[in-house]
Amino acid sequence: KLLMARGIPKQKMIPGVKQVIVVASGKGGVGKSTTAVNLALGIAANDMVVGLLDADVYGPSIPRMMNLRGSPELTNSNLMRPLVNFGIVCMSMGFLVEEGAPVVWRGLMVMSAIERLLRQVDWGQLDYLVVDMPPGTGDVQLSISQNIPISGAVIVSTPQDIALLDAQRATEMFRKVNVPVLGIVQNMSVFQCPKCKYESHIFGADGARALAAKLALDVLGDIPLHLKIRETSDKGQPIVISHPDSSEAKAYLRLAAEVI
Ligand code: ADP
Repeated sequence: KLLMARGIPKQKMIPGVKQVIVVASGKGGVGKSTTAVNLALGIAANDMVVGLLDADVYGPSIPRMMNLRGSPELTNSNLMRPLVNFGIVCMSMGFLVEEGAPVVWRGLMVMSAIERLLRQVDWGQLDYLVVDMPPGTGDVQLSISQNIPISGAVIVSTPQDIALLDAQRATEMFRKVNVPVLGIVQNMSVFQCPKCKYESHIFGADGARALAAKLALDVLGDIPLHLKIRETSDKGQPIVISHPDSSEAKAYLRLAAEVI
């Protein structure tokens, strides 16, 4: 609210970056980062040059999910050179602090870190920059939304009421700052027993669909709860790369096709 009261800062393009897509969620732990990673890879599978910015400064998970470690080198013009894996150029707070170290920072320090991650990176020429936002609707999310021109926001939610309520808040925040919300991704909506194939809806069945209807949003994707998604994510071998022919990878590829 404070940032908004001070007036919307001027938006500046990130040099070389054509489109920015932010992946956001109202709540943590709903699969936002997993979606951001597989969405970035899915977009790249369409012959696009893609970057991934981990803006989840308090809990960066992109280094692990993209199997990347190390510190970015500086270019001659003092920009950080992103690390690359699976053809995706990545930048994360996790490259700048030790894994497991807590980021015990006050708001202003977090803001200047975000500013660095946005502006002091040599992204090269990108068709798409996918931004993994921190969960929630705080200062960081607002300042990113107001600082760079965003082509669209993708909201990730599980189908349970508590997550949906927060997804609604996230949607309303983006609408307030004139960021187009592309739609909602329903994650973990169905679990199929690997033995008997029975399908259970652990977090509810169609909650995100109902919310999408209420907010006039599109449902961009429906991703099942699947062991392989968790395993590949933890191992740094995202499912779109490691099991491209699986139905789960195809769900992410369909999502990417909806977004671009
Ligand atoms: P967030 O970014 O919202 O905090 P993450 O993407 O880190 O969430 O996901 C939280 C955990 O859930 C991770 O261990 C991830 O591997 C797992 N996960 C995410 N989506 C799925 C899914 N569809 N099926 C199984 N596990 C998932």
